[in-house]
Amino acid sequence: MQRFFTDRMLGKLAKWLRVLGYDVVYLRQAADEEIVERLREGRIFLTRGRRAGSWQQLGKVFVVNANEPKKQLREVVQGLRLAMIDAELFSRCLSCNCLLDTVNRDEVRAEVPDYIYQTQSQFHRCCDCGKVYWSGSHSEKMRQQLEEILANTDYPDGR
Ligand SMILES: [Zn+2]
Repeated sequence: MQRFFTDRMLGKLAKWLRVLGYDVVYLRQAADEEIVERLREGRIFLTRGRRAGSWQQLGKVFVVNANEPKKQLREVVQGLRLAMIDAELFSRCLSCNCLLDTVNRDEVRAEVPDYIYQTQSQFHRCCDCGKVYWSGSHSEKMRQQLEEILANTDYPDGR
């Protein structure tokens, strides 16, 4: 899977790509050294900045033109021909990009509302911030939004 980093203009786009399961580092303050380091890691730089051209000799840069995060996502998915792979959806923490671990239901009992504990069978925890996720209405809503955003988009199916 391709890996990315974004400048601070593209925080919402970074989250949407994480929903898709992509590894996206969000640079709040994109210092030049850090941009260079991330490009050397082989990450694609998603940016709205005018200086995009100066980075292109160091690595792969994708300039995002749309203003609205959902349109940006569409632009990136189309432009880079990203796949939407079911198994990868919701595999990362949306806040910190870390992969989620599957956790035992009993381990999270004290941390989730009772009705969630009663009705959900699968829980996941972020390996960084510790946030607990479950496949509730939230992710269903996001999945629908994703399908709307990517409808009629010419993107390859998951291999
Ligand atoms: Zn997290």
